Amino acid sequence: MESRYNPASIEQQWQQTWAEQGVDLTPEDSSKPKYYALSMFPYPSGSLHMGHVRNYTITDVLARVRRMQGYRVLHPMGWDAFGLPAENAAIDRGIHPAKWTEQNIAQMRTELKRLGLSYDWNREVATCLPAYYKWTQWIFLQFFQAGLAYQKESAVNWDPIDQTVLANEQVDNDGKSWRSGAKVERKLLRQWFFKITDYAEQLLNDLDKLPGWPERVKLMQANWIGKSTGAYLEFPIVASDEKIAVFTTRPDTVHGVTYIVLAPEHPLTQVVTTPDRKAAVEAFVKEIASQSELERTAEDKPKRGIPTGGKAINPFTGDEIPIWIADYVLYEYGTGAVMGVPAHDVRDFKFAKEQGLAIVQVIAPAGAVEGRSQEAEGRGVEAEGTPLTQAYTEPGVLINSGTFDGLPSVEAKTAIVHHAEQNSFGKARIQYRLRDWLISRQRYWGAPIPIIHCPSCGAVAVPDADLPVQLPENIELSGRGASPLAKLESWINVPCPTCGTPAKRETDTMDTFIDSSWYFLRYPDATDDQQVFDPVKTNDWMPVDQYVGGIEHAILHLLYSRFFTKVLRDRGLLNFDEPFQRLLTQGMVQGKTYKNSRTGKYVIATEIADLTHPTDPETGDALELVYEKMSKSKYNGVAPGDVIGKYGADTARMFILFKAPPEKDLEWDEADVEGQFRFLNRVWRLVTEFGERSATSDQQSNANSNLSKIEKELRRSIHTAIAAITDDLEGEYQFNTAVSELMKLSNALTEAACKDSPVYADGIRALLILLAPFAPHIAESLWHELGHTDSIHAQSWLTADPAALVADEITLVIQILGKTRGTLQVPSQSSKEDLERYARESDVARKYIGEKEIKKVIVVPGKLVNFVVG
Ligand SMILES: [Zn+2]
Repeated sequence: MESRYNPASIEQQWQQTWAEQGVDLTPEDSSKPKYYALSMFPYPSGSLHMGHVRNYTITDVLARVRRMQGYRVLHPMGWDAFGLPAENAAIDRGIHPAKWTEQNIAQMRTELKRLGLSYDWNREVATCLPAYYKWTQWIFLQFFQAGLAYQKESAVNWDPIDQTVLANEQVDNDGKSWRSGAKVERKLLRQWFFKITDYAEQLLNDLDKLPGWPERVKLMQANWIGKSTGAYLEFPIVASDEKIAVFTTRPDTVHGVTYIVLAPEHPLTQVVTTPDRKAAVEAFVKEIASQSELERTAEDKPKRGIPTGGKAINPFTGDEIPIWIADYVLYEYGTGAVMGVPAHDVRDFKFAKEQGLAIVQVIAPAGAVEGRSQEAEGRGVEAEGTPLTQAYTEPGVLINSGTFDGLPSVEAKTAIVHHAEQNSFGKARIQYRLRDWLISRQRYWGAPIPIIHCPSCGAVAVPDADLPVQLPENIELSGRGASPLAKLESWINVPCPTCGTPAKRETDTMDTFIDSSWYFLRYPDATDDQQVFDPVKTNDWMPVDQYVGGIEHAILHLLYSRFFTKVLRDRGLLNFDEPFQRLLTQGMVQGKTYKNSRTGKYVIATEIADLTHPTDPETGDALELVYEKMSKSKYNGVAPGDVIGKYGADTARMFILFKAPPEKDLEWDEADVEGQFRFLNRVWRLVTEFGERSATSDQQSNANSNLSKIEKELRRSIHTAIAAITDDLEGEYQFNTAVSELMKLSNALTEAACKDSPVYADGIRALLILLAPFAPHIAESLWHELGHTDSIHAQSWLTADPAALVADEITLVIQILGKTRGTLQVPSQSSKEDLERYARESDVARKYIGEKEIKKVIVVPGKLVNFVVG
């Protein structure tokens, strides 16, 4: 027997053996219930970080325990491999994006394998491979055929020096290009969109079908979809046939509209602007065009606007009101126009005050209206006597609203919409904040959009037989000029698939979020080259039973995946509504960080002379010790490879699971890592010592009878651990308390005074089986040390014996007048009468009651006896 725990040798040995034996491959046997365990697949940046380790370890424990519980488990891994960093590496280092990505995947796959994660590597996918993106393109065409993929003009970030489109992340906080430093402009380009808005209502309603999701994530999705109920109203333009449409959630305030604001890009801006205002309006529109949406709508920024000189008519009052343009109204959102109601909207009130626009109060607090004099007929705040000092946004009663006066504002909403419908200047409408998904990217490293533009047929789908539209390899990437594919004449020019006329390929590639919106549907049939997936297989494995990933994907990735699932269901490919049954968003991994709070600089630990009183070696300032998300710039990262090299993967896994509940942030602490390493060493010694003593290690004791008191106690510890750990791996996962239970069981075995008993042998066996999902290598190794020839990971999970959980004795509390005076060990099955008798006869009673009269005895079975004495 090996005497010393040597993780480096056993971990490598078992990883090799498991791979050879194929123990992690997905079973095809469909008689067992299925369990699909999935971690969000990584972007192949080149190296694994601790956040990955945490995410994948959590999923792996669940996959392993479900296998032992008799499920057939699908636990795959792949790569979200398209995207900008590969293209930037190509520009910076002259390496082809495909080559760079391939190298990174190879490196990360090696690192993943060192963690002992039970993946079925036969199902690995990489979204950048033609075998995968062929089907991404096929899915795009499904959307296209369903009328859910369309083109329209939309604003992009344009670098005027490099003459290229920039992604949002390539524009810095000052609105300048990361590369050229030029001030980025907004430019209109024809782009592809997915019509996710068609599914807004379903995406919102079906959140109710997800009880296994964190409430916080569901709320974030609901807010992102942003449903609001209100009215669509039309304001005729004076001296024109055109009308300005607005959406409002407050139709009850329509009599208080004192101006209309158009987005500067709104086509009606040209129509309403009067000749004297033309120059000023054009200058303003040009200025706003260079601002990003975020800059324009930032809460803390003053709103800017100018009058167009044009006027509209409030159809409810007949009043003429001025038409303005302002930066805070976006053309892409809603109708691109809003009605200004300064008296009842905080932003409008501020804008009206700054611009000198009229403020007309039309809602008053319910109580305030009672005593109002009938003469107050005129419109405007003067009539009310007290001008508003701020917007009144609460419900109330209508005033200054003609025939609607006196109506409660909630009822008035319906009445006013009804009136608008009767008179054909408005109707009830539901609006969503969600907008259609812009999927065009003027980039190389993505899946080409499989469309051919024909001068006579328009946008034509590439026939399925011609998929994939492969990315050309001989490409020049400079980060300058038009989209890289647009420069390749030989690639662009093709005959139209419909009429044969010379036509041009679409040169945009797809947003990489598309690649990750369906990868989980591919794993059940990952190598199929005839179809996107076999619907029988995918419908069998889906939905994912447990999805694990970072909270940063709470909105986009999860929303897009839900959208794809619904569209493919409606195309007849899927038979379920939601892709992810349960979702766990694991917390961050934080590192110990030394920060100079005066200068804001981070200091490397090895440069600090005295870590107990850390000071900045440059300035001498005392340093603040904080835990922050691991990052290179904060010098607080810990490389997974280093930890595995020093302690082994099992220790790294145990620490990560033990240190914090899965959804909470975790503080990396070397001392605690060592603590887990010491624990595994203790388990090693405990089991090897037992193995040496006992030749037949597989003797079992199943009965509670004929056991000594000591044996019964040990058996109770064993079954308590089984029950508690099983429970911790269900419902609200509590891996941290499960690890504590393993430690308790190990302690009970260490201290047991019956090491030759079959119960002790049971305990050792249970400890290894319970440990297996958490620390798979050491558990397997010790299992074999005990003489087993099959894998511990093929064993059945244990079931607690309820009889074993019952204690023989309980501790009875004895109280005198409600005050605890002592305790007593009594048989756990004692009746109420027996409990009273034990208590009366106890030394405690004798000492505290003596000759006093017992007036009353209160017995709480299983707990306490209280004597009321006089
Ligand atoms: Zn054609």
